[in-house]
Amino acid sequence: MRIAVINCGSSSIKACILESADGRRLASASVERVGELATVLSVGQQSIALDGADHRAALQRLLPLLIEAAGGQAVAAVGHRVVHGGEQFDRPVRIDDTVEQAIEAAAALAPLHNPPNLAGIRAAREVLPDVAHVAVFDTAFFATLPRRASRYAIPQVLAEKYQIKRFGFHGTSHRYVAQRAASALGSDIRDLRIISCHLGNGCSVAAIEGGRAIETSMGMTPLEGLVMGSRSGDIDAGILLALMRDGYDAEALDALLNRQSGLLGLSGKRDMRDIEAAAADGDDGARLALAVFAHRVRKYVGAYAAVLGGVDALVFTGGIGQNSALIRHRVCQRMEFLGARLCEERNRQARADHQHPDLIISQDHSRCQIIVVATDEELAIARDAAQLCAAAAMADAEQLAIPLAVSARHVHLSERDLGMLFGEGYTLTPERPLSQPGQFAAQERVSLVGPRGRIDGVRVLGPTRSQTQVEISRTDEFRLGVDAPVRASGDVDNSPGLTLVGPAGELALSCGVICAWRHIHITPKDAKRFGVRDRDLVSVAVDSAGRDLIFGDVLVRVSERFSLEMHIDTDEANAAEIDGESQACLWSAGRDVRLVRRTVAGDRPKG
Ligand code: ADP
Repeated sequence: MRIAVINCGSSSIKACILESADGRRLASASVERVGELATVLSVGQQSIALDGADHRAALQRLLPLLIEAAGGQAVAAVGHRVVHGGEQFDRPVRIDDTVEQAIEAAAALAPLHNPPNLAGIRAAREVLPDVAHVAVFDTAFFATLPRRASRYAIPQVLAEKYQIKRFGFHGTSHRYVAQRAASALGSDIRDLRIISCHLGNGCSVAAIEGGRAIETSMGMTPLEGLVMGSRSGDIDAGILLALMRDGYDAEALDALLNRQSGLLGLSGKRDMRDIEAAAADGDDGARLALAVFAHRVRKYVGAYAAVLGGVDALVFTGGIGQNSALIRHRVCQRMEFLGARLCEERNRQARADHQHPDLIISQDHSRCQIIVVATDEELAIARDAAQLCAAAAMADAEQLAIPLAVSARHVHLSERDLGMLFGEGYTLTPERPLSQPGQFAAQERVSLVGPRGRIDGVRVLGPTRSQTQVEISRTDEFRLGVDAPVRASGDVDNSPGLTLVGPAGELALSCGVICAWRHIHITPKDAKRFGVRDRDLVSVAVDSAGRDLIFGDVLVRVSERFSLEMHIDTDEANAAEIDGESQACLWSAGRDVRLVRRTVAGDRPKG
């Protein structure tokens, strides 16, 4: 699909038209010094003076010229880079007046960026009113950060009042390079733990698990985290207090931390090429800047490896990450403990660009691969816009029904644990079959005993499995006093335990207690009809009696052994007021919308 991408900064505009399928750039244009006297528009080899043009006037000239330079064919959509999506936007969205208002509302969080982004959107919608306009947010990729990563340890009343939380930035780049790295490794991103380092003028690190961001170094603003061209990155907040007591006001601190610090503050230079050259000539400030910069990145990589519980791929991108062998070398020193072994020769040679989009620079036997990837935010934005357009085109797709089952708390037992609870050699007595072939609700019941409380009469499901697993709801967790992670069935590593009590004995589990990740069982044939793949995350909207609800993060599990059914737990069912008349719609990764009629199965606790 032919897509125009627009990135409106405060004083510049960058735009291009590209083919979303293969990333081919058909034309590019830019405007420098928007709103100043010497505004210049460049399209291809052409330079046009647009003295004093604002964003609107500049785009009115730029867009027709850009389309002409790309061969004159109409574009299918326009993708707009928007820096801040606030709390509201966790994915790309088709722009209408309401979306414009929400972007405007988020301007308080990004006063330098959202207003020019919005000016670009408004102007482009005026010039091209008949095509879809799509906003792609820098913050959206980090909407998946768990609370423990996104919250600051300040009074939460204050945090809510001022929307103080970690939003993260550079999300479009981190998402793109992580996917690209997975492809370069021939792996599915959902199997990888990735740390991506975007090192440009602005710098950030992200920890990505199975394609989802779980940590990132930029926070409420892009000031937190790594040392950057002229931003300090992490700094003791007490320093600000000391400076304020000495007369610095908000403006002075803003200038200090955003424009006078970082590499510039340490060395007097902000461009890494100049700093490397000066350091080679023995300049002490430049050497210090290199050392502090690389140390901070290393520190984050180590921290994120701990957060991820190991790393499969370390990715470098951005102007510095793609080009500076020296910085990559310094960051990767003594990383063997993580299984990351740099190949010095490959590193020295590696310069990633559109011609060489990804280069592996680790040694062949390195357990963690180190990869340099050329970021391409424009292509990522174009693909998002194309995907959203395709979704709209398919909105009237055929209707398919998915039965919905509500799973009450239950226990799967291993053969050994069954023996301990019910007596050696015991076999389960099937009471009734469950929808998944071969599975049954057994007559047997056990008690769950946690640090805070006890729940009796919990159903055992059969047949026995290789590992014992207890599936409870969040409400049950409070009663029992355990903190169970949301997990797919079978994924019990590092989950908490509790005590199981059966008629013949007790069993203290060291792990195995999870809160089941809501999921859809689906056969490969049905998956094809729905346009979903194994481990896709989809959204499902339930249309119920007065309590409509959209479930996000629904995990798709594809297997020949399954039959089509969505499983949610009792808390989720209650939240959506599920009853026999409820209906649900499935979105597959933003592509399809289909109606689903539900049926209820399983035990629901009474009272
Ligand atoms: P932005 O974050 O504004 O998109 P870039 O990603 O283009 O910026 O990164 C700019 C940074 O990349 C600058 O510090 C620049 O010095 C650095 N850089 C570009 N090329 C090289 C190189 N060959 N060696 C070292 N640093 C480089």
